[in-house]
Amino acid sequence: MLESLLQESPAGLYCPQGDFYVDPWRRVSRAVITHAHADHARTGMDQYLTTEDGHRVLRRRVGNSAHIDTIPYGTTLTINGVRVSLHPAGHVLGSAQVRMEYQGYVVVISGDYKVLHDATCRPFEPVRCNAFVSECTFGLPVFRWPNPDEVFEQINQWWRQTRDRGETAVIFAYSLGKAQRILESLDPSIGPILCHRAVEELNEDYRDTGVTLPETTVPDHRQKSTRPEGAIIIAPPAAQDSSWLKPFGICSTATASGWMMIRGTRRWMSVDRGFVLSDHADWPGLLKAISATDAEKVLVTHGRTGPMVRWLREKGIDSNSLSTKFTGESQEAESGETLP
Ligand SMILES: [Zn+2]
Repeated sequence: MLESLLQESPAGLYCPQGDFYVDPWRRVSRAVITHAHADHARTGMDQYLTTEDGHRVLRRRVGNSAHIDTIPYGTTLTINGVRVSLHPAGHVLGSAQVRMEYQGYVVVISGDYKVLHDATCRPFEPVRCNAFVSECTFGLPVFRWPNPDEVFEQINQWWRQTRDRGETAVIFAYSLGKAQRILESLDPSIGPILCHRAVEELNEDYRDTGVTLPETTVPDHRQKSTRPEGAIIIAPPAAQDSSWLKPFGICSTATASGWMMIRGTRRWMSVDRGFVLSDHADWPGLLKAISATDAEKVLVTHGRTGPMVRWLREKGIDSNSLSTKFTGESQEAESGETLP
């Protein structure tokens, strides 16, 4: 039964009965998209299906001429006899798990997900199924996230200290998701908030979708007097190696990622501060999410899947790795971006 709902193919995860793909990486006629990060949402598909919440951010990724259909979370659509619905994944705005049901058998493809609170998107919703395809970007017991509220307090404190030294705070974050999550948590009483244009475009998509974010401005490099006192700047990682930062004088730089849990990563990324903040589930989060599905079969994808597969098998769950081209929380997710 699993084989009629899910197969690996050269173009990505394929549902033969429904004749559609989930997050395909080659051009196909019908693509169901879990979320708009570049490694999941590629250009060139004939038809896209995503959530209503995810429409604007997917449109930004795949272009104005793309054919995009949307459904609200939890609404069922029947495609060639397969009942398809999208359920919140808690990863970024509009992110979804894809539920597929055929003749009573249910497969759920998680896409990327997190179970911790994020004020900028709907919370992860456990969906019961027979087979669960789980991402595993941080699938090692060493990954255990601190409370995000404490991390946001650290970020505001770092900004305050940077401002008091007369420097500019610059935090590098993915334009889609991480940037808005950080922005939402900033304390605007500390100073002005500036965003790189690539970030601001997505801020607008978030606001237009109903997410409340603090006021931001885009710095105008043509005006020399626009270096605001005590500002924080949110910029995509690609801005780090460009001349874009020069007008801001002395900067204290930071980044926020799950990889900051690994010693040496901050120095390798050449930033002054590293905050542990991820839009993926940590090890306990993965186990919690997997167990809530009650699935008898778990297919694990992204990252080092071996330890998770072994752990699940020891618990008596039928588990295997699934090969995909998804990169998770790495620079490649930003590869679709260009700088001015
Ligand atoms: Zn993602």
